[in-house]
Parts: sequence; C-alpha cells; structure tokens
Amino acid sequence: MNQTETKEKEIIVTEKSPKKFFVETYGCQMNVSDSEIVIALLQKDGYESAPSAEEADVVLINTCAIRENAEDRVRARIRDFKTQKKHNPELIIGVLGCMAERLKTQLLEEESLVDLVVGPDAYRSLPGLITKIEEGEKAVNVVLSLEETYSNINPVRFSGNKITAFITIMRGCDNMCSFCVVPFTRGRERSRDPESIVEEAKLLFEQGYREITLLGQNVDSYKWFGGGPKKDFGKVLEENRDVKTVSFADLLEMVALVNPLLRVRFSTSNPQDMTDEVLHVIARHHNICKYVHLPMQSGSTRVLGIMNRGYDREKYIQRINAIRTIIPDCGLSTDVIAGFCSETDEEHKETISLMEMVKFDYAYMFPYSERPGTPAAKKYKDDVPEDVKLKRMQEILALQRHHSMVGNKSDIGKVFEVLVEGHSKRSKEHVFGRNTQNKAIIFASDKHKAGDYATVKVTSCTSGTLIGEMVN
Ligand code: SF4
Repeated sequence: MNQTETKEKEIIVTEKSPKKFFVETYGCQMNVSDSEIVIALLQKDGYESAPSAEEADVVLINTCAIRENAEDRVRARIRDFKTQKKHNPELIIGVLGCMAERLKTQLLEEESLVDLVVGPDAYRSLPGLITKIEEGEKAVNVVLSLEETYSNINPVRFSGNKITAFITIMRGCDNMCSFCVVPFTRGRERSRDPESIVEEAKLLFEQGYREITLLGQNVDSYKWFGGGPKKDFGKVLEENRDVKTVSFADLLEMVALVNPLLRVRFSTSNPQDMTDEVLHVIARHHNICKYVHLPMQSGSTRVLGIMNRGYDREKYIQRINAIRTIIPDCGLSTDVIAGFCSETDEEHKETISLMEMVKFDYAYMFPYSERPGTPAAKKYKDDVPEDVKLKRMQEILALQRHHSMVGNKSDIGKVFEVLVEGHSKRSKEHVFGRNTQNKAIIFASDKHKAGDYATVKVTSCTSGTLIGEMVN
C-alpha cells in the first residue's frame, strides 16, 4: 500500500462518526457503580454515550441475578431489544454483570440475538469484544479475576443528582452465605488501593458532590496490605508484616478527612465482621453518617446456621447493642428473608421478636427465592409452601411499616442537619434531602439548592418521609 492510500484510509477513519452506546442498569448500587466504570472504559476508547437505547449502536444491559424475578425482567428487556434489532440489524446487544456470569454462554444459545456476554471482572475487554462482533463473531468473557478492582478507572457518573455518588472499595465476596449467588457471579473478595479511593473522593468533592457511599459486599472485611491487595487468600502475607495494613476503619477515617463538608456513608456491613473500631470512627467524625445497614436475614440461630451467615442471634444482638452504645443516635436498617428452607413457625416468630427488639428504621424484605447453583439449592429443600412464605412476609412487612411510623413520629420536634438533594417531586416550593440517619426530609425553601446543608425541624411525618420546616 502506498502513502496516498494510507492517508485516504486515515481520513476515512477520522471522518467516521463514533459508535454510540447505551447502558441500562438493573439491581444493586454495585451494578450502578459498575455501569459507571463501563461508561468510562468505552468513552476512553472513543465511544459516545447515546441518550436512549433507540439511538445506540451498542446496547448493554447490566444485570442482576440475586432473585428470579430480577432475571425475568432482564429477559423481557432482551426481547424488547431483539424487536429493535429487527429494524436495525447492525445493533449489538450485550449482557453484562451477574446474570452474564451466572449463565455464561447459555445466554447466547437461549437468546440468540444477544451478541455479547461479559462478566463483572472483564469490562476492560469490552472494546475488543465489540470489535470482534463487528467482524462477525459472538463474544464472551466471563473470566473472574483475583486482582481486578478497576482502581485506575475514574467512573463516569451518568445519572443521579450530581450530589451523591458511589465509590466501589472492594469487589467479590468470600462469605458463601448459602442462599447467595454473589460469590459465584462476582468472584473472590479483593480490596482496592486506598489511595485511589481517597483520590476519587477528592475529585468528586471538587466536582460538587457532597455525599459518597463506599460500596462493597462486605465492607467490614476490607483489607489492604501495603504491598498490594490480598492475593493469597487464607494465608497471612508474612513478607508484608512490617508494612502497614489498611482496615475498613482506617479507610473510613481517611475518606472522612477529605473534607468535613463531604458526607460519608457505606454499605454493606456484616454482623460477623463489624468491629467496635469502625463504630468509634463513625462516632468520632461528624461527616460520617450515623447510619448502619446491618443485614439480619433471620432471628433464628438455627436458620442463620444453615444460611451460613457466620453469626447467631446473640452475636447480632450484641452488635446492635454496640452500635447503640457507641453511636446513640444511629439510624438502623436491615435485610430479612421470609421462609428460608425448613424455617418453622417458631423460627419465623424469632425473626419477628428480633425485629421487635431492634425496631429498625427501614428494612429490605423478601420471600426466599432459590437460586440455582447456590449451596442452599444443592443442600436444602425449598420446602416452605408459597402461601406460608407470603403470610410470613406480610407479617414482617406490616411490623416494619409500624416500626418506621413509630420511629418517624418520635422524630417530630427534633432538629436535623439535612443535605439537600433536589426539589420535591410534588411541589416546586419544597426541597428534599436526607439527615445523617438516612431519613428523607421534605421542607419548604426558596433558598436551598442541591448540595446545600440546611437545619430543619421535623413537624410531621408519614411512614416513609419526615416533613419539616427550616430553622434559622
Ligand atoms: S455477605 Fe453473604 S449475602 Fe452478602 S454478598 Fe457475600 S455471600 Fe452474599
């Protein structure tokens, strides 16, 4: 090929408009955070974000596998995109995340118009895989990594209020709770370099963000060894003994010191790993929110045992007491599963009695849904009849609604510092935000905008929201 031909080719390449992509996200905060990494990686490679799926050349569905109905929703969405593909045969449809990891090539076979399947540790390979598809092949990368933390990627915050953001501090989980698919879809636990986390927090603050949530499946087991992430699982790194390790308590403090106006939250804690040291760090720093999400899952020691949760009822109560002693004004939320394998009526009552004892501000509550491939699916029978599961679920829901209402009523007359997140959906004269306990508060204001702090006195409430007025 002569010089002129090369140049012509270069001109053609330059004039070609960039490919457009659209990412649709399902599931947890971790998936939202992963989508932000995917967007950053694709933009770095010259792709542009499309405002809608209809305008995209590549549609990526970031999926959740935690419950069967989450997967059903994704399958319905894939079928929508298949219809779109009939009008635009060039459209590339990709499935990312936990469902991609769980089903692997099965998705290509079942849903024949899916072109791309990429697991949570393989997003760096996305641009190369898209090129492969353009050359007429299907592409899959579901290899899980022991090291990938995407620590050098600055996520692109694609949605939200530009005030609150997530920062992923670790990936994977080593806990193997028997009902959970996460260790199989997100692989082994690994912690991210703390310096890169602090840098990301600083950058977000400079960009105007005022609240960050540090994310991990089990943040309390965050551990960074001076020489690098924990590589040889289960073995102490003898050679790193003299190098300072960074625990979650250390990391929390490092991030809190970025700026006193930057609120810090974290999710998710695990009762077996949550230390008093972490609680003391929370109590010490005004800008670390006084709120802990501590999943209980069940109030029965036997059920917790077969769930392989690593704690019993007593240990859970002991952790709640530690929170209440060290952080007296702490907001508390939890996760509860109704009708896990072999759960008896008595054991369900133990869940109810533990909820009565703690009186959570909020709870995420689900009837047990068996996930293929999990230890529970292999070892235990999903033998609680659906109508019993639903009845137990209704009891749990009703009790939680009652506790949320009682908790909110007890806030009437109290004064809170509120970080304003935007205008209330119902009225332009009202703004909404959250207090440190993570409760939503609405109040009338014509002078506050998103990102401002306000002092607000609670005057009334519903079970989900506090209503207040500004205090000068
Ligand atoms: S701690 Fe248990 S429930 Fe949470 S992600 Fe890990 S295995 Fe799943």
